Amino acid sequence: MDEQHYQQRLEQFESEGRRRHLRAVEPLGGGMRCRVDGREVVNFSGNDYLGLSQDERLKDAARQATERYGTGSGGSRLISGNHPLFAALEKKLAAFKHTEAALVFNSGYQANISVLQAIAGAGDYIFSDRLNHASLLDGCRLSGAKFRRYKHLDYARLESMLAKTPRDAVKWIVSDSVFSMDGDCADLDVICDLAERYHAFTLIDEAHATGIFGGTNRSGLCEAHGVSQRVTLQMGTFSKALGGFGAYITGSETMIDYLANTARGFIYSTALPPGVVAANHKAVALVQAEPALQKRLWENTRLFDELSGNMAGLTASPTPIKPVIVKDSDKALRLSAALLEAGFLVQAIRPPTVPENTARLRITLSAAHQPEDIKTLVQTLESFLKN
Ligand SMILES: *Cc1c(COP(=O)(O)O)cnc(C)c1O
Repeated sequence: MDEQHYQQRLEQFESEGRRRHLRAVEPLGGGMRCRVDGREVVNFSGNDYLGLSQDERLKDAARQATERYGTGSGGSRLISGNHPLFAALEKKLAAFKHTEAALVFNSGYQANISVLQAIAGAGDYIFSDRLNHASLLDGCRLSGAKFRRYKHLDYARLESMLAKTPRDAVKWIVSDSVFSMDGDCADLDVICDLAERYHAFTLIDEAHATGIFGGTNRSGLCEAHGVSQRVTLQMGTFSKALGGFGAYITGSETMIDYLANTARGFIYSTALPPGVVAANHKAVALVQAEPALQKRLWENTRLFDELSGNMAGLTASPTPIKPVIVKDSDKALRLSAALLEAGFLVQAIRPPTVPENTARLRITLSAAHQPEDIKTLVQTLESFLKN
């Protein structure tokens, strides 16, 4: 065997419009501006929904914690890496999410794969929305549980699956609350009703809802629907609206204690650095204290909706995630390249990230966008789509 095997596979990806390339995206401070291929553009592809990654108060928090405790944590949480900032952050998260307890993980991907492995195994059942994030799918596979995927948002189908499962088996329903590539939402009330009726636990991934939806805390869709206490585990990330890095799980004292004892990604990985944890803490505090952040995000989202009413391929969504489905991967790549020329970073999202024949441009709005930039983006994209 030689590496030719892999070279051929890369060429195959190329011919299918699936090859991916890394390119440098240099942030230029506020307004979602960045430099790509030597060109200054506005980023409409990020998940920095509140613009917090560039906030001076988060940078200060990171700097101060780094000065005090150093750049690395030097060990896993259970050995020697559990610096004092973790307990403060986890206490804050539990209150933020209206739960008893919280546990910080190193990333959302890692949290999902390790939590699913910990909570379910051979003989147990997991029911998962077909459009759930890849990390949930990978966690379901790794767990060794029997796992079934129901058609996206098809809760009648979910119910018939649950009804066929032994009553006393351990069952989990797993769903994104906001779906990352489509920007639509799960019906959390129905999921909780079904879970209670069929004695199932629930794991809800709030990666794209935290800081965007909610009640007084703006902690996510579980809070918005008043189901924070009915959901067994809420997962969320610091890497999107919170402008930082890492993830967390919230739930009862029992479940969080169990995860700290069993989640392999928690046990066998070095704890997040002090600077990262301090910035995350500051972000949670700001989201709770400053409703103006969400207000700007929703004003920008509404502006985009008003301007783009007739855009071909645009799927309406109740979130700042706006997919423009063009189906063909090459076409999505061509449009993305043309938008970059015109000053906008809008990535093409292609299979296998999304289902076959649903390649799309995924536009995301942020509180940090200037209204002028949103107007120009819509005009430019509409003119490209017409030609
Ligand atoms: C981004 C994302 C993750 C992964 O989180 P990271 O912190 O980026 O690893 C998990 N679930 C969903 C729904 C996501 O969108």
